[in-house]
Amino acid sequence: MRQRSRIYHLEAFLLIAGLLLSRCIPERKVNLPENLYRHVEYLSSDKLLGRKVTSRGDSLARTYIADQFKAYGLYPGNGASYFQEFTYSGDLFHGVSDDSGKIVYNVLGFIPGRDPSQTLVIGAHYDHIGIKHTPGIQDSICNGADDNASGIALLLELARKHGHEDTPDCNLLFISFTAEESGLLGSMYFLRHPPPDIYTIKAALNFDMIGRMQDNRLFINHTNSADFWRDMITIANEESLTIIYDNLNSRNDGVCFTMAQIPVIWFFTGLHEDMHQVTDEIDRLNFAGMVKIFYLADRIVNQLIY
Ligand SMILES: [Zn+2]
Repeated sequence: MRQRSRIYHLEAFLLIAGLLLSRCIPERKVNLPENLYRHVEYLSSDKLLGRKVTSRGDSLARTYIADQFKAYGLYPGNGASYFQEFTYSGDLFHGVSDDSGKIVYNVLGFIPGRDPSQTLVIGAHYDHIGIKHTPGIQDSICNGADDNASGIALLLELARKHGHEDTPDCNLLFISFTAEESGLLGSMYFLRHPPPDIYTIKAALNFDMIGRMQDNRLFINHTNSADFWRDMITIANEESLTIIYDNLNSRNDGVCFTMAQIPVIWFFTGLHEDMHQVTDEIDRLNFAGMVKIFYLADRIVNQLIY
């Protein structure tokens, strides 16, 4: 079922049928900055109420992500499902809460490769911290535009691109982690319970807070998780970004991969005063910077999958 050759046959058939019917479907042009903006705009809108785990906003966010995977031609990444569910244990830092015991979901989209035993994982968390009341401030929604609607937007555009490209040498798994803000619960669950078809994870890329690039500077962390990363990044850096390596080993889903001894890198544009505040809004994002990170990351992906 996951043979791309069948898809090619189907595409070829549809193409010929289309030509016979003299129907011309114009190729849709990809407008990367606009697409990135649209993803962030929805995910960080007030309607999603800060995407706190188990909330209505969380449900809307994961539905949006799964719908995008489907639209880009990705297969469900967990057997027949785009979701990997598990029971929320509560915030690791504050313990059990009213939400403990509810179900939370990672969202997974899959592109089968020629070697089914190897998988490249591309990840970003989609949850955020929800509502926060601050005395003297009317706004209470932590929209999480940088943290981490920015990372999800980039992941979705990579999924769109690779959903329409040649069969890669290894599988590609796009995963949007839940419950990162509660203590990396989604990535930890995924690594402990790999879905069917995921055997060896050859490497992973993680995007968390990539929307606030300043002075062409990009932080890439965990490069000491494998000896090939820095050479690969140097080759891919056609934008001549100033890359600062391994400056921060703080909490992010990449840590779970390093603990599992999987080569991983975390793309990051730095800490800022709006982090986990109601002011983490879309108008403070640097979309031109995100486009540069997209191309850099895509060249790294291509080195790993072809
Ligand atoms: Zn984050």
